[in-house]
Amino acid sequence: MVRENEIRDGEVAVEPPAARDAGLQFIGRISTPWTHRRLCPRQGRQDGPICRIELFEPWVAALEGIERYPQLEILYWLDMSRRDLVLQSPANDGSVRGTFALRSPARPNPIGTSIVLQVARKGAMLLVRGLDCLDGTPLLDIKPDRRDFVPIAPPQSGDFEVGDAGT
Ligand code: SAM
Repeated sequence: MVRENEIRDGEVAVEPPAARDAGLQFIGRISTPWTHRRLCPRQGRQDGPICRIELFEPWVAALEGIERYPQLEILYWLDMSRRDLVLQSPANDGSVRGTFALRSPARPNPIGTSIVLQVARKGAMLLVRGLDCLDGTPLLDIKPDRRDFVPIAPPQSGDFEVGDAGT
């Protein structure tokens, strides 16, 4: 039961407000073995197939130092998704959940994220395991996995704040 662009029993779509461009740039392209949504994993697995992330210029230089991080967080644009659902029925059985209580690709801003294993870097390309997107999915961002990343910039006051905010 993979979603195409249908509305299922119990689901609710809305008229989204007019788009205000946030200036997102597609910085690369992801190559995977999956050519149809129904063939993709629901969630990537780190023992899954090797996928290729290709960076476009002028962003290749931004890979400098990435080899330090065995796990990366990849953000991508699920470009085939509908963007107007507020209630969804993942099992297509009439029961629904709110879009923000799901990791469904159908969402107002269809950003997918996966934590992947870095297998190798070859120039402008990264080979990784752990993706779940269609071949050709646009790349939005790459970050070190937060569990491995220690901030390099010096600490600032907010880093030491604990407890309730005074608002
Ligand atoms: N791991 C990401 C997350 O949690 O944000 C995405 C999870 S989403 C459930 C993965 C599913 O999105 C795939 O199984 C496939 O059905 C669908 N999908 C993959 N690539 C897509 C694309 N480019 N456009 C729309 N849907 C896509």
